[in-house]
Amino acid sequence: MKYEYLLFDCDRTLLNFNSAMRGAITKLLLKYGVPEVTEEMISFYDSWNNSLWAKLESGDITKEELVYSRFPVICSRYDIPYPGKMKMETDYIVFLSEGHELMPDALDVVKELSGRYKIFIASNGFIEVQERRIKESGLRPYLCGSFVSEEVGYAKPDAGFFEAAMKQIGDFDKSRYLIIGDSMTADVQGGINAGIDTCLVSKKKPEGYGYEPDYVVSGLKELLNFL
Ligand SMILES: [Mg+2]
Repeated sequence: MKYEYLLFDCDRTLLNFNSAMRGAITKLLLKYGVPEVTEEMISFYDSWNNSLWAKLESGDITKEELVYSRFPVICSRYDIPYPGKMKMETDYIVFLSEGHELMPDALDVVKELSGRYKIFIASNGFIEVQERRIKESGLRPYLCGSFVSEEVGYAKPDAGFFEAAMKQIGDFDKSRYLIIGDSMTADVQGGINAGIDTCLVSKKKPEGYGYEPDYVVSGLKELLNFL
C-alpha cells in the first residue's frame, strides 16, 4: 500500500455542512425574532459566510474577524437588532454543532478504509463544533484522531496545518499521506503546499486553478477503487 495515513476533510466531504448550516441559521434567526426564515435568507447567509471563509483561507482576515463579521451584516439586512458580541455568535456555534448528517456512503467508506489505513480528520473549523459533530455522526470509532484548525493554530491550505498533523502523528514521510477533500483552495492547495498527494471529491472537474489534484472522485465510494 502506498499510503498509510488518510486525512479526510470534514465539511462537505464526510459531513453534510449544508444541512448543519441550514439548521443552525434557521434556529438562530427564529430565536432572534425573525418570524419566518426564507430560502433567500439562508442562501444570503451561506454566500456571506463562504466569502468570509475564503478570506480566512487566503489570510486576509483573522478567525476573530470572521466570527464577529458574520452576524452584524445579517442583522442589518433583515432588521434584527444586533444584540452585541458573543450572543448570536455563541448560539450559532451551539446550533451548528447539533448538525451531524453524513454525506452519502461516508460511514461505510470510512469504516472499510479504517481496516487498511490510519484515518484522521483534517478540518478548518471550530474545535467544539467539529468534535461534537464527528462524535454524533458515528465516525469516531473509525478514526485515529482529528486535526481542527482552531486547535492546530493553522488553517488549510497553510503547510503549517499539515506539518503540525505530521508532527503529532510522528511520521514526516510525506509519501505516506493522502488528503481527501471537496475544496480545491483548502484541501488540494493545502496538500500541494505540504508536499503530500491530494484527492478531490467533486462531481465537477476542477478548471482554471492552475494546479491539479492527483485524483478526482465524484463520490466517496470511488475511493475504494484505488485505496
Ligand atoms: Mg470541505
